[in-house]
Amino acid sequence: MKEKYILALDQGTSSSRAVLVDVSGAIVGQAQREFTQIFPRPGWVEHDPQEIWQSQWEMCQKVTREAGIEPSDIAAIGITNQRETTVAWDALTGEPVCNAIVWQDKRTAPLCERLKAQGLEPLVRKRTGLLIDSYFSATKIRWILDEVPGAAAKAAQGRLRVGTVDSWLIWNLTGGKQHVTDLTNASRTMLLDIHTKEWDEELLRHLDIPLSVLPAVQPSAAAFGTLAWKGASIPIRGVAGDQQSALFGQACFEAGMAKNTYGTGCFMLMHTGADARPSQHGLLTTIACDPAGQPAYALEGSIFIAGAAIQWLRDGLHLLDDARDSEYFASKVADDEDEVIVVPALSGLGAPHWDMYARGAIFGLTRDTSRDHIVRSTLQSLAFQTRDVLEAMEQDAGLSLSVLKVDGGASANNYLMQFQADMLSVPVERPADIETTALGAAYLAGTGLGMWTAESLAEARQIDKVFEPAMDPFRRASLYKNWRKAVGRSRAWIEP
Ligand code: ADP
Repeated sequence: MKEKYILALDQGTSSSRAVLVDVSGAIVGQAQREFTQIFPRPGWVEHDPQEIWQSQWEMCQKVTREAGIEPSDIAAIGITNQRETTVAWDALTGEPVCNAIVWQDKRTAPLCERLKAQGLEPLVRKRTGLLIDSYFSATKIRWILDEVPGAAAKAAQGRLRVGTVDSWLIWNLTGGKQHVTDLTNASRTMLLDIHTKEWDEELLRHLDIPLSVLPAVQPSAAAFGTLAWKGASIPIRGVAGDQQSALFGQACFEAGMAKNTYGTGCFMLMHTGADARPSQHGLLTTIACDPAGQPAYALEGSIFIAGAAIQWLRDGLHLLDDARDSEYFASKVADDEDEVIVVPALSGLGAPHWDMYARGAIFGLTRDTSRDHIVRSTLQSLAFQTRDVLEAMEQDAGLSLSVLKVDGGASANNYLMQFQADMLSVPVERPADIETTALGAAYLAGTGLGMWTAESLAEARQIDKVFEPAMDPFRRASLYKNWRKAVGRSRAWIEP
């Protein structure tokens, strides 16, 4: 039999990627294209849904062409996508009724304030595991119904379709046959009851959103329809939002396993198994996948400024020419010179501090302080913030972490990863391939087909390096104490 491949579609916020994965679980080809970011007004962020689809489809064609394979060589398709971003289209014409409203878009902040004033937050927390925020899809859908000419009329006629980007891609891949989403994406809309795993009728009523516009919901490793391509009929077998896909791609299948993605910000997810754990620390409870791609739960926390702090050293302070040089400068400082603390609260502090009035600060400056100290402390701040969130997660989940799996651009930094292991006192494991988001979608699709099991995937994963904690416990405690002191002093800096 000829070798078969999984085609993973990785539809991100700034680019569309297609990745080919072989039966061994290795990436054998990829193609990527950026697409247009649209900023119509301050605080608004949009994408053209047709450009999302076209760029994604072009990358599918490109990656197969370059690898010299035929559509009939593709066993299944997996999809992972930017979460929360909302698309609305007309079922009869297949045309979007407006641009996609991106997760970063803040236009519905006033509506969110109104919902909070109505006292809706406890219900939202209980049912969806989220907080009321413009980030999630629900208020974006309400905005489309209110503000896009003809959208409400189309909804009344039963011809409006709404969904996250996965739904939009599946609709196009299946030639308009399927209006469907997976549970991980649905859990980011603020409309799904994460306990019953169904759209929540009470929340739909509060937001006045008709059930008929929403997609059907399925587990991540289910059958989502088929793509007819050059005579081949290719099943779509795995779908998950980007962070949940990365969790699966990192083989975090069971309670207590966690991954952290070190990009512009950090996205941390801890698997909590079959239990949805409510958070006492402002973390989100969300749907993840079990080893078979069936629904399970995770806690999620994000750090606003992580790699962005390194960008700020480079572009704002001009202390670096390249983010990668931060490792070299940090390593020049001796351990006993660690006196500076950088709090990168450049846009306030997220979980578990939640202080939008905090601002960035540098503490402990003396005449000896050099660029190297500032660079090193800024890297350390990523690890301190990660510890803050992980400790909150451990408390909320009642679980303790045994290993942190890492990915994202800044996970390439060896100084940072070693310091992270030291700060957490657990090993930090960096995979050989940090494209875990695309791998997760491929793994889900292959698992759905019965091509792989959780065990075979965990075995096939290649590890680049494990960083073992090595710091003296006294030093570790003293550094972290200083960090907490510095965070305390940077709080409430801006007057509301
Ligand atoms: P995103 O997906 O958010 O764009 P990436 O995963 O591509 O982010 O990571 C890029 C971020 O990581 C940038 O903010 C950059 O400053 C930081 N970064 C990249 N390489 C390194 C490195 N070797 N050391 C520290 N930070 C790095």
